[in-house]
Amino acid sequence: MAFVGVAGAIGISAFGIVVLQGPTYWLGLASYVIWGSCYFVATMLHDVKVRRRVAANDALVCWQCWYPLTNVEPGRCPECGTPFDREALRLAWTKALYRR
Ligand SMILES: [Zn+2]
Repeated sequence: MAFVGVAGAIGISAFGIVVLQGPTYWLGLASYVIWGSCYFVATMLHDVKVRRRVAANDALVCWQCWYPLTNVEPGRCPECGTPFDREALRLAWTKALYRR
């Protein structure tokens, strides 16, 4: 997820370099870098938030809406109705957050 932020920041900066020429070039580049950084920080914070919630609930968090499913009967998420399987969910979160 943090990777998306980095890729986004690089992509946005590249867009600024290629598309914005002339007097607005540096202004455009600066604003794209600033927005790219904001986006990067936002995804980092989002990443930390998801990790904390997943860790606190033993990876039993809804894949769609992050609703904690620790005390919920297997079947569907009561918040958004997404079907879930405890083992599949644990595996999916572990793969998504801890593959390094
Ligand atoms: Zn849900």
